[in-house]
Amino acid sequence: MSDEIYYKTATELRSLLDEKQISSVELIQAVIDRTHAVDSKINAYLDTNENQALAMAQASDERRASGQTRGPLDGIPVSVKDLIVEKGKKARCASRILENFTSPYDATAIINLHNAGAIPWGRVNMDEFAMGSSTETSYFKKTVNPWDLERIPGGSSGGSAACVAAGETILSLGSDTGGSIRQPAALCGVIGMKPTYGTVSRHGLIAFASSLDQIGPFSRCVEDSAMLFDAISGHDPLDSTSYAGEIPKCADALRTKKGPWKLGIPKEYFPDTLDPEIHAAIKSAIESYREKGCEIVEVELPHTDLAIPVYYIIATAEASSNLSRYDGIRYTHRSDETSNALDIYFKSRGEGFGEEVKRRICLGSFVLSSGYYDAYYLRAQKVRNLIRKDFQEAFKKVDALLTPTSPTPAFKFGERSDDPITMYLSDIFTINVNLAGFPALSLPCGLTSGNLPIGLQIIGQPLKEDDLFAIAHSHEEAHDYCKLHPCI
Ligand code: GLN
Repeated sequence: MSDEIYYKTATELRSLLDEKQISSVELIQAVIDRTHAVDSKINAYLDTNENQALAMAQASDERRASGQTRGPLDGIPVSVKDLIVEKGKKARCASRILENFTSPYDATAIINLHNAGAIPWGRVNMDEFAMGSSTETSYFKKTVNPWDLERIPGGSSGGSAACVAAGETILSLGSDTGGSIRQPAALCGVIGMKPTYGTVSRHGLIAFASSLDQIGPFSRCVEDSAMLFDAISGHDPLDSTSYAGEIPKCADALRTKKGPWKLGIPKEYFPDTLDPEIHAAIKSAIESYREKGCEIVEVELPHTDLAIPVYYIIATAEASSNLSRYDGIRYTHRSDETSNALDIYFKSRGEGFGEEVKRRICLGSFVLSSGYYDAYYLRAQKVRNLIRKDFQEAFKKVDALLTPTSPTPAFKFGERSDDPITMYLSDIFTINVNLAGFPALSLPCGLTSGNLPIGLQIIGQPLKEDDLFAIAHSHEEAHDYCKLHPCI
């Protein structure tokens, strides 16, 4: 157990709170002090609401004192990616175009946090509109990797991953469209989980690519991740793609589900270009599952290499449509240099969006345009089906798949930002999972010789998050990687 309060897990803190060894007010204060001490280096936060958080902590302490605790997350601080809206708070998607937008309502995930007694206490940086893998496309600031201040934290939920790794919060919410929770979690040495599409409401999640976007948890242990998933998941009539059936309760399942499992290794996820230290760490994780009695089988996902092109057709098509609402008229940045209506649209969007977002809007408009729709968009949808079928076939044989999360550890600032294709390849192992709609998480499984975290990706079956967390938990129990913290 770490001695500092801010490095404890929600699971540990819950006992300390219940035993009255600390109060939620003390916990929030410890996280605030830690953030004041290190965030000038890390740059994870865009805003914090300290007074409001302390008042919520006070209310949580009163609930606990009167035996009315709302559950395991009562009194625990959670930071929120800048694209999940909170009533009365700015929600900018790290974009200039939404610089002055304040949300009039709470996202369902935020309402669920409040119902669980958790304390959303600050808004964290991200790639603009969640488009990127390094958090470098944020209009506001560059978040750094707490393990090496010259390197990126991953993206697009780089702020979430960095502040969990640096002890600037206990938990965080991010979003994952093509890897944006798992990849930064891997690069910052924390746990990041993307739920089955439809299990967490998208109501109040500012849309990037609606058929792929999911909100999910960041944490420093698997049980925390399961508890946060339990708190935010559930059917929501305000999201038409929300799943109406039963969603597993996961935190309790960690105690009952002990394996052994049948685990698949997709050979397409171990190309020659895979960083050798990552390869070795994943191999040793696989071996440790084998030693625990799990059966390891090789499986095939033959359409894996089509995922990046398919994603960059579907995601950009959806983004070009979703982002058309930012017109310079309603809730967005408006250019000062306008003399007519068209100017308002063009100049406001021209000034408000960054380069990567514009590139995606152009790509998306192109693939949807008349004459190209069938050749690109329709075809991409067909290939997406093949990718999903690959996973379905593989899961006839196994309970979960084990892969690397990212092909490389955290890279340096500027190393990929001038070359979009190289940047897009950062998500080569995560994007497929979004196209298929399956759940997956990234779990720390070692450090490189340069002291950079390595993430193991575990891909589960739809609506079997309980198994996914249990498989991750059994690895965590046998290793100490989740307890490693960067020296800042
Ligand atoms: N890096 C990918 C992209 O830029 C995925 C982003 C995400 O999951 N939001 O689109």
